[in-house]
Amino acid sequence: MTNIPSRRGFLGWIGATASFAALAACGSGRAEAKSFPVSLSEAQWRSKLTKSEFYVLRQEGTERPYSSPLNDEKRAGVFVCAGCGNALYSSKTKYDSGTGWPSFWAPVDQRAVGTSRDFKLGYPRTEVHCADCGGHLGHIFSDGPRPTGKRHCINGVAMDFRPA
Ligand SMILES: [Zn+2]
Repeated sequence: MTNIPSRRGFLGWIGATASFAALAACGSGRAEAKSFPVSLSEAQWRSKLTKSEFYVLRQEGTERPYSSPLNDEKRAGVFVCAGCGNALYSSKTKYDSGTGWPSFWAPVDQRAVGTSRDFKLGYPRTEVHCADCGGHLGHIFSDGPRPTGKRHCINGVAMDFRPA
């Protein structure tokens, strides 16, 4: 009879592990379950995007800092989603954060992007994605300049630039 409590304990441990895994999956997810206006299958995204675009937008990858030419883009214009063309950020809110990633203190419109919680590094971060296709863009931090104090740290490969 002594093995019953320990068996329960074991099952309890399995249960706890499973729910932790589920929680972690939710936390890091780009809301795969959510539906977005632009919705393609994984195979369709793979054929539409370059390898590095797919890695960042659809697999929540991160490009190497200073690897994107958009980091140094200083012309007036709009940065659009490389996945679906949705206008995301204006050159008017772009600034040099010194991080090596294109940085903005606000999106072109609050409805242009969506956010989720990301626990990939073991602590919560605010993940930001395109509101139209769900493509992962980067993260939002609270060390940005005025007037918002926000830093949208965006992977350049996730965007295309349209000069004004
Ligand atoms: Zn998009």
